[in-house]
Amino acid sequence: MSVVREMHPTPDVAKGVEYWEGVPATVDGVLGGYGNGTLPRVDALGSRMFLLRTLPYLSSTPPAALNQSPSEWKAMRVSQRGGQGVTLTRALDAGAGVGRVTEHVLLPLVDEVHLVEPVHKFLAEAKRKSLGWAPLQQTVDTSPFHARKAVYFHQSTLQGFPLADPMSADDTTFELVPPTYMHDEAVDAPKAPVVYDIVLCQWCLQHLSEADLIHFLKEAKSTLRQPDASQSCDGGVVFIKENVCQDTPDGGETCWYDPEDHSVTRSRRVYERIFAEAGLSVVRTELQLGFPSELFDVQMCVLYTYKTRWALR
Ligand code: SAH
Repeated sequence: MSVVREMHPTPDVAKGVEYWEGVPATVDGVLGGYGNGTLPRVDALGSRMFLLRTLPYLSSTPPAALNQSPSEWKAMRVSQRGGQGVTLTRALDAGAGVGRVTEHVLLPLVDEVHLVEPVHKFLAEAKRKSLGWAPLQQTVDTSPFHARKAVYFHQSTLQGFPLADPMSADDTTFELVPPTYMHDEAVDAPKAPVVYDIVLCQWCLQHLSEADLIHFLKEAKSTLRQPDASQSCDGGVVFIKENVCQDTPDGGETCWYDPEDHSVTRSRRVYERIFAEAGLSVVRTELQLGFPSELFDVQMCVLYTYKTRWALR
């Protein structure tokens, strides 16, 4: 008996980018007309709660049961993090659009975010709006861990982006080069190899072929922060929030090609196989509730590589 491997439809990268170039550079544009209702708020809250439960060391809220005062706890955490004015925790926003996820999900949680987005006008809009992003209004004195917040804008596809050395990506960009440091020009740009606490992919992996996606996930895996007991840090994660279509009734893989934006929507089974092929395990997964019923299911999951994860036991 021979086993025939099913061939899935594959996205067209260039045509995908071309499609997005024709979309207005607004939250409503990147969310396909769902930007003005409750969806963006429900979405961002869902992601933030999910990430905080998974990475409690990013939370600046003192534990409920505490043998010290909240201010003593904060002082201890600031000192564990290396003192005032430090930029320590970092995230990548993959296919960042106009910066919606960076503003509402990532910047409240981490010190530094790298946005990767191929469409120039989206990135330009993100950069323009970033001047008003609340977490960037905080100074070292007012930010929860007295951290120094920073944002970098990279114009690139995920296929072409060097995760471990983000500052080297910018020969391929224009106008927005060099990436902008938001607060304090005197601070050095991050040096390679960088590590991430969160590599976040939302609504953009449909533009990567299977081979590209596996390659990207392997790269992401090699750049995650290692666990560090002295920081109560369980190590970085890849966070994925994507549309999924139904597996076949007998649990088989399916993919759905969208001729409009030249992307591919995958079923859970397909994603699970791809994650396994990249050497990542799913440690937590949840369906996003509260979205309009006509949409695809939107599944959140966290992928992780290290064996010991005390917080998730
Ligand atoms: N993640 C954002 C934007 C979603 S829209 C949000 O949730 O708000 C999908 C985004 O993926 C668009 O900004 C589009 O330009 C981007 N994209 C398209 N092809 C891509 C590719 N090959 N690599 C990275 N991003 C891509």
